[in-house]
Amino acid sequence: MHHLISGAAGFIGSHLCDRLLADGHSVLALDNLKTGSRRNIAHLQGRERFRFVEHDVTQPIPTAETFDQVWHLASLASPKEYLAHPIETLESGSTGTRNMLEIALRDGARFLLTSTSECYGDPLEHPQKETYWGNVNPVGPRSCYDESKRYAEAITMAYHRHKGVRTNIARIFNTYGPRMALHDGRVVPAFLDQALRGAPLTVYGEGNQTRSFCYVSDLVDGLVRLSASEERFPVNLGNPIELTILEFAERIRRLMGLKLELVFKPLPEDDPRKRQPNITKAKQLLDWEPKVPLEDGLRATVEYFKALA
Ligand code: UDP
Repeated sequence: MHHLISGAAGFIGSHLCDRLLADGHSVLALDNLKTGSRRNIAHLQGRERFRFVEHDVTQPIPTAETFDQVWHLASLASPKEYLAHPIETLESGSTGTRNMLEIALRDGARFLLTSTSECYGDPLEHPQKETYWGNVNPVGPRSCYDESKRYAEAITMAYHRHKGVRTNIARIFNTYGPRMALHDGRVVPAFLDQALRGAPLTVYGEGNQTRSFCYVSDLVDGLVRLSASEERFPVNLGNPIELTILEFAERIRRLMGLKLELVFKPLPEDDPRKRQPNITKAKQLLDWEPKVPLEDGLRATVEYFKALA
């Protein structure tokens, strides 16, 4: 099959390229390189079934090739980045999603949107099921990301209902692994960077907020399975093992065998207090659940960051 991927030089996008090429497909990879990096796809350059085009998907997609599957991953995904670029973030979820949907409509291709657990905001239901409508502050600083993804879900459903596009929506929870950007501010690269420098770990708030961390190969496997399913409504993809940020810091200390100090910093505005996916739907529908233990995934990520240094 011929695949079009936006955000293909990003963290998850580049792993998706690897997986699709390994499965025998061909890929046209788009990225505006705002947060994606040529380094993430350098090993694919020159491969016969892979082509990269630097392009911003908020502009019409410049291709006459015909695709079987369209993947819309392009977005600023880390709080640090989307808080710094709120308008671009809203545009990639709105205009960008529409441009990618138009290609799927033109070609009769399947379409998959990578949405987010942020659709649940600061959730009042815990763990979060796909049927939960969320608790999002529509005018808070994070709303540029949350609402752009909620709009992206809405327009995806509209293209399915009104134009018959075969769509899927993945709600991705916190994901980590090699090729995350070291300085994107997210907790996994932040703590690993600090640990590698022997610096104190920066815990926001009291560290009793929770997150659930999924290794990238598990996540990509979930995306590929979802893309082959007929489910039109959102499906959660994430690891249901929930940790407080303090517990996560402790795991990093143990993994590194270091007695790292903690420094406490103010909790960012609207930082969700809890987050854990209910993955019953993915288990039943896709026969999917994460397999990579946190320690193994973190070790592989540490090796990646060490090799960068
Ligand atoms: N966090 C932290 N220290 C850091 C970076 C993040 O304590 O150096 C916290 C952050 O406040 C949040 C959690 O870790 O509660 C996960 O943050 P991240 O930016 O990775 O992703 P989010 O889940 O908020 O999108």
